Formats: sequence, C-alpha cells, structure tokens
Amino acid sequence: MDESKHYLGIPRLLIPWHPLVDAEACIGCGVCVKACKHGVYAESDGKAVVANPYECEVFCQSCQFQCEVGAISFPKKEALKATIKELRKQYPPR
Ligand code: SF4
Repeated sequence: MDESKHYLGIPRLLIPWHPLVDAEACIGCGVCVKACKHGVYAESDGKAVVANPYECEVFCQSCQFQCEVGAISFPKKEALKATIKELRKQYPPR
C-alpha cells in the first residue's frame, strides 16, 4: 500500500479498520471482490481474501451488507472512534 496514506492526519497503517472474512462461511461468490472499488479483496482458492486491508476506507462497511452469508465482519465503530481519539493526541489536527 501507499505508506504515505493518511486519515485525518493519522498514518493509515496505524488505524485498525478493515474487513475480516470467515473462510468457512465464505462461498466464494465474488460479490465483495467486485463491489470494493479499492481493491481490498482478492480471490484465492475459490474464497475471498483480504489482500490489501489498509486500502479499506475508514468507517466503510458497504461490502459487509452485500455478503449474503454474513462472512464479512469489521471491528466495532465505537472502538475505532476511541482509537482515533487516542491517535489524535499523537497526530493533532493541523
Ligand atoms: Fe465470500 Fe461473502 Fe465475499 Fe461472497 S461476498 S466472496 S460469500 S466474503
């Protein structure tokens, strides 16, 4: 990924926000691979894998709602907000 990528002035690599795929639940339909415009997903052995996690848009969960078998999960938004609040102490708004 582009290591210079930031979110609100915080290096994107420090922000723990990206999908997880439950490989047992995934049926390999490919919906998420096609739906994500940021190239987060790839297909491997007939399943979706999270190939580029930090390309995921912070707070975006649209792929999760498209997965018909509920194989995609994200961290809790409340936890992410708390993490960002902490990180902003290190990376204050300019
Ligand atoms: Fe697997 Fe769900 Fe993605 Fe389909 S949308 S490939 S079932 S994770």
